[in-house]
Amino acid sequence: MNKLYKSLVYDLQVSLSVLDTTELVNDAIKIHNLDEDGAKLLGGLLTACAYMAGCLKSDKGAVSITVKSGDGSATVSVSGDKDGHIRGYIDGAGNGLKGGVMTVIKDDGLFRPFLGTCELKSCDVSENLMQYFHKSEQIETAVSFGVKMKNGKCVAAGGVVMQLLPGTSEENMDKAENAMQNFINAAEVIESLGADGIIDKYFSKETEKSGVYLTFPAYKCNCSRKKIEGVIMPLGKTELLKIVEEEGCVSVHCHYCNKDYKFKSDDIEKLF
Ligand SMILES: [Zn+2]
Repeated sequence: MNKLYKSLVYDLQVSLSVLDTTELVNDAIKIHNLDEDGAKLLGGLLTACAYMAGCLKSDKGAVSITVKSGDGSATVSVSGDKDGHIRGYIDGAGNGLKGGVMTVIKDDGLFRPFLGTCELKSCDVSENLMQYFHKSEQIETAVSFGVKMKNGKCVAAGGVVMQLLPGTSEENMDKAENAMQNFINAAEVIESLGADGIIDKYFSKETEKSGVYLTFPAYKCNCSRKKIEGVIMPLGKTELLKIVEEEGCVSVHCHYCNKDYKFKSDDIEKLF
């Protein structure tokens, strides 16, 4: 089961998140038929999204992260909501992503969504996310994520994030930095200890004050036939019936869950 632990540590000055997203990555592998490189790439971004969705405050909050390669040939996109429902897809990134831009759109019930972009520093999700928080949100963040694959399956995914709250003392910054050294190989630590084990082994004393908050992110698409109807209706009845005549039906594909929605002439008559 996927897990996201959140707590405040080091005199409540540092926000700690520990994630196990192994199942999330395995669900993505099944849905998208991913090879190992694809699983690592999408898996890392799904983990990042599970973390960011877990930080949303508004009940209707949502976040999406899109990474586009410099030459526009590849896109990896993930999105998630306050309920921890995470989904994503990968398009044309068979050879990994070298260079490009990461865009984050965060809608947290505020007046307008927050949009941040940053140039990709490397092909490592953790580094890109740290850079994003530093440049776009001006929050110092240490991220260590990992995805470990074996025989086409994900055996461990997840990691640790620490974010410095305003006014963190030098001493507590050092503590956070030192603690992060334990998670350089995040996937290995998740594999041997699990998210629960990480809290127990490294933070049991530190989390006593604020307690630990546990949620369960999951791979879940929010598409529905009703939503797709809303997407095709603006085309108008005449145009839709013309498509049915030419192609047998109106077919809409959801990238996130690989589902096809098909509408025949009866369905279209009913819509209008
Ligand atoms: Zn879908």
